[in-house]
Amino acid sequence: MNIFKNIKERLNNVSKLMDITPKKLDMLLSFKRIKKANLKLNGKEYPAWRIVHNDLLGPGKGGIRFHPNVSEDELETLAFLMTLKTSLVELPFGGAKGGIKINPDGLNKEEIEQVSRAYIQAFHEYLGTNRDIPAPDVNTNSKIMGWMLDEYERIKGYHEKEMITGKPLELGGCALRNDATAEGGKIILKEFLKRKKKKSERTQIVIQGFGNVGKNIAKLLHDEGYMIIAVSDIEGGIFNKDGLDIEKVIIHEEEKGTVLGFPESEEITNKALLELETDVLIPAAIENQITKENAKNIKAKYILEMANAPVTFEADKILHNKLITVIPDILANAGGVIVSYCEWSQNKAGNIFTKEQMKDVLKRKMTKAFHEVYELYIEQKNITMRTAAYAVALKRILNAEKARGIYKNKEDY
Ligand code: NAD
Repeated sequence: MNIFKNIKERLNNVSKLMDITPKKLDMLLSFKRIKKANLKLNGKEYPAWRIVHNDLLGPGKGGIRFHPNVSEDELETLAFLMTLKTSLVELPFGGAKGGIKINPDGLNKEEIEQVSRAYIQAFHEYLGTNRDIPAPDVNTNSKIMGWMLDEYERIKGYHEKEMITGKPLELGGCALRNDATAEGGKIILKEFLKRKKKKSERTQIVIQGFGNVGKNIAKLLHDEGYMIIAVSDIEGGIFNKDGLDIEKVIIHEEEKGTVLGFPESEEITNKALLELETDVLIPAAIENQITKENAKNIKAKYILEMANAPVTFEADKILHNKLITVIPDILANAGGVIVSYCEWSQNKAGNIFTKEQMKDVLKRKMTKAFHEVYELYIEQKNITMRTAAYAVALKRILNAEKARGIYKNKEDY
């Protein structure tokens, strides 16, 4: 499935609302830099990419993922979403993404370190604090960021810790990074439900994915009194109509490596989990989970997209017609990149943000972006929250383009 196609179709939708000229549309769909290399490990070669979509607002920013399904199409889509996300929450960054097409499950720690260093050897000249700043993503973590920083500084011969974020604390990382994405999602959901006049105690939640994002948001929402009725991982899901005890599910999952087998629950498939009756469905696993095949069966009232691109373009239309509101990924999961910005900024300036200062930046930026998007969504009546979020983000990018004076042709504006 070509997923960048979804982006093109969504941009066409937004261009009607904002009257984006074909020339500007071409600019928005083009990429600043696509670099590919084959990384060698144990006599085998693994394709790897680093892609910058757009850097009009600042250096590229985006994670690096290690996954057997990584492709150029997927990374282009994710880099594009990063451009919109950083613009939406007013960060001085463009959008980027990188990855290695590899299954890390079959590798030992030394091999993972070796391939992480090989990535930097291949792409170091395109990275840097003022060029393109990576971070962790699916199957990468702070340890890997530490190795990557070390390799970069070894090649360059000087320190530049702000060239990468999500690092270990000892190397200038920040404590809040691990649950920042989930915390940001919680802020957005609470603001949204406030508008719907819904209380946490009576709100049922279903979560697909129990990794960094899914597990943390389950815990945060459970602590606030929301009723988490189902969660899942790649092996399958568990369901309890009276609510799961998330603290206990986390202990079980950390012992067994899966949520399956949790005593006070019944097992369900990931397919059935997505189609459960619930107030809020939170996809927090991977892309393309709600498609034209299953969108008609979705019974949730609201969808909070914590994963990137979990709902396809065709599914968006079906959900909109069913009056199901989708809170889009570029808004819902922007918390991680906001805290990454704090890390970059403190490393660059040589200052240390306190946890409270970072939480404050996170809350202010998420809340402001939510209200900007929500007001436009309400004002326009028949658009989706995604279209509203794209419009807010694109406006800033187009204004930056105009301010840079690249277009000479007056009729473009
Ligand atoms: P992760 O690897 O820690 O966790 C992924 C979880 O999803 C795991 O529980 C895994 O078992 C499950 N999963 C994988 N494939 C599945 C499938 N087919 N069906 C059901 N479950 C499946 O990853 P993460 O960091 O939690 O990221 C999850 C999503 O959130 C990704 O789309 C990622 O791009 C996005 N995201 C993450 C961050 C972050 O800070 N980690 C920030 C923004 C967006």
